[in-house]
Amino acid sequence: MDSNNDSFVVDGKLALPYQYFAGRTGSRFIIAIRDEKKIKGLECKKCNKVYVPPRATCEHCFCDIKDNWVDLDSTGTVTGFTVVRYEEPHHPVKAPFIQALVKLEGADTPFVHIVQGVPVDEMKTGLKVKAVFAEETTTTIMDISHFEPA
Ligand SMILES: [Zn+2]
Repeated sequence: MDSNNDSFVVDGKLALPYQYFAGRTGSRFIIAIRDEKKIKGLECKKCNKVYVPPRATCEHCFCDIKDNWVDLDSTGTVTGFTVVRYEEPHHPVKAPFIQALVKLEGADTPFVHIVQGVPVDEMKTGLKVKAVFAEETTTTIMDISHFEPA
């Protein structure tokens, strides 16, 4: 006889609040958005690449680039996206919403943010968008409220 027949499984779900240090580079990125309404990246002059979100080390040549800050335009292009259709407590907005990869003008890497102002079924890659900064700061990436069509 299989003893597993005597046991049963209960599915549950845990919410796990946590904090982590954004690091020197991540902190400076967020503080520039909060205080200057500017999106900054880090540039590898050797590879001629600009990273947004910034990274302290070039992923191609492994150079230390942590002091090579550059200001970027707040406009960019959607290089990929998904439509989030389910609710989670940590989502910044109500579903359905568009989560997109946005490559800013002058940047070589895309970063993830929300696009609003486009019906979810009309969203497409290649869309030109611009950052809309939040009226009230939370000192998070949500100090960019969202991107909208440029
Ligand atoms: Zn490099």
